[in-house]
Amino acid sequence: MSDQAFVTLATNDSYARGAMVLGQSLKNHNTSKKLVALIGPQVSEPCQSVLKRIYDEVRVVDVLDSGDTAHLALMKRPELGVTFTKLHCWTLTHYSKCVFLDADILVLSNIDELFDREELSAAPDPGWPDCFNSGVFVFCPSMETYGKLLQYCIEHGSFDGGDQGVLNGFFSNWATADISKHLPFIYNLSSIAIYTYLPAFKQYGGNAKVVHFLGKTKPWSYTFDPKAKQITGSVEKATTHPTFLLDWWSLYSSAVVPMLQEQYGDKPFHSGCVEFQYSDTVTYESEQSESVSSHDQALQPQLSSEERKQKWEQGQADYMGMDSFDNIKKKLDTFLK
Ligand code: UDP
Ligand code: MN
Repeated sequence: MSDQAFVTLATNDSYARGAMVLGQSLKNHNTSKKLVALIGPQVSEPCQSVLKRIYDEVRVVDVLDSGDTAHLALMKRPELGVTFTKLHCWTLTHYSKCVFLDADILVLSNIDELFDREELSAAPDPGWPDCFNSGVFVFCPSMETYGKLLQYCIEHGSFDGGDQGVLNGFFSNWATADISKHLPFIYNLSSIAIYTYLPAFKQYGGNAKVVHFLGKTKPWSYTFDPKAKQITGSVEKATTHPTFLLDWWSLYSSAVVPMLQEQYGDKPFHSGCVEFQYSDTVTYESEQSESVSSHDQALQPQLSSEERKQKWEQGQADYMGMDSFDNIKKKLDTFLK
């Protein structure tokens, strides 16, 4: 349908890489909807070109530049820069209904059925389930709503400093008013939730349709060895589910990097792919399977560094695995270097 679109936002080249993978994942699952990327003026020319190949519409939104109410709002609430940019999605009034997706999202199957939902539909936030997570939401573009949202921002700000705080404040009856506006969690599965409720992940994780790499460490924060099909990165960073992370990287390296290479030509650019494996990094096997039991296996080395520290302090060091002498020595060597 041409009056319905998936919308994302990228204000810089890092998030733009995320948006490329997101758009490509939607296309691979044969969406019939339009794809729109809102971008900041800082996104480089080559990245804009790649986005234009994947997305039907790439629109530069410069809140600082625009003389509209968002600019005025930003002058009063300068801390909410990216938030105002995200709210711009309500101005896409040539569409009757849209689904916003964060740029740190990977779509695992066709999710066009989300357009059957009404504004504002979203999935619960894993940290506070009476709030919705604003990484995935169904909305109806409207200048009237846009104006009200900006007004709300000016008057109330954001309780968490970002768009999620503003949107939950504005759509404040989401938790209680209409259960049909609660999207199932499989439409916004965050890696954080995997670890907080592992048995539920084992039971339902296989049904996930959308993975959200929420939090500080994004897929593009890691590096990838395309030959060995392995993620490389420090142990401290490894908080994301390795299977989904590999899915992201295999799509990025196979579909997006070639397009970037074409656009950059001879100019060097940071693809995040390495040619060889560093010895002091953890690696995840690229063996991928749909079954949840393989998730289980892959989860074994996935304790956070805080959890590992706790286990260590309780005398439960994993001497045969993560805490083997070799690994400890490697760690010490990095400090000594
Ligand atoms: N975003 C952006 N530039 C930034 C920060 C955020 O374009 O510097 C956009 C991007 O679409 C991102 C979304 O805003 O996915 C929300 O931020 P993020 O995903 O980092 O927040 P989280 O989901 O981790 O809370
Ligand atoms: Mn996000």
